[in-house]
Amino acid sequence: PGTVVLQVRVAQVAPHLVLVLAEDRTEARRVEAIRRDFVVNVSHELKTPVGALALLAETVQDAADDPETVRRFAGRMQIETTRLSALVHEIIELSRLQVAGALQQITVIPVQGVVDEAVSRARTAAQAKSIRISAGGALDAQVYGDHALLVTALRNLLDNAVAYSDDHSQVAVGVKTVGDLVEIAVVDEGIGISVENQDRVFERFYRVDPARSRETGGTGLGLSIVKHVAADHGGDVTVWSEPGRGTTFTLRLPAASGEARAAHSAVRDP
Ligand code: ADP
Repeated sequence: PGTVVLQVRVAQVAPHLVLVLAEDRTEARRVEAIRRDFVVNVSHELKTPVGALALLAETVQDAADDPETVRRFAGRMQIETTRLSALVHEIIELSRLQVAGALQQITVIPVQGVVDEAVSRARTAAQAKSIRISAGGALDAQVYGDHALLVTALRNLLDNAVAYSDDHSQVAVGVKTVGDLVEIAVVDEGIGISVENQDRVFERFYRVDPARSRETGGTGLGLSIVKHVAADHGGDVTVWSEPGRGTTFTLRLPAASGEARAAHSAVRDP
């Protein structure tokens, strides 16, 4: 931090003329380093489920004449495979978002549709823990962006709210318009996140408790994806939490203005 990387090139272009070219490579170096770290992390994260699968396959082979063991280990192979495919899916999603211009089609998006779809996708996991997800507030708000990406972001927040909460608790989605912004908050009554971890949870593959995250099938990429989606939409995501009491993640996105909305609906309903 604070270091500037300059690439300097010197060329003698004439007997008495030396050309010195200095190029600021600070940002390029930073991006390169992030990319390198990502590749290292990805290889490390992939090794765990792949290693587990190899071991399980070996066990199944050795126990070929014991149908009960075969069934049990085949079941565990299925769990590892599901985990691996979730991980691969999120790695692809994140790589796509890290490339500039992920948002190719920007339209006016009604928040209600995003909330409905994300809540309905998170419902199975919530029902398994008897957690109720409610939604309310300014659901008629509209934002600019990509419907599918916004659903992915909100769904990741909801999946986490469910995963890091006790059975029979409540999760709420609250929408507010504040000036030119639409705030979508996901509020849970779960385990919470300590202050020192609150910034770190947005880092790729960072988990407060790796064992618990693994148990819930977490990949450690969910919040990085949310952060990228928010930034690509010109917004941000913030966290507020009290350990033991609960957590609130708030997505803030620029609101689609009245004129733009009118123009859009004029195009749609001539
Ligand atoms: P994961 O796949 O592990 O859930 P995320 O990137 O979505 O990865 O989240 C990173 C970490 O942040 C999680 O492992 C967990 O420790 C913490 N976390 C995220 N959401 C919550 C929440 N609602 N309540 C408590 N902890 C959370």
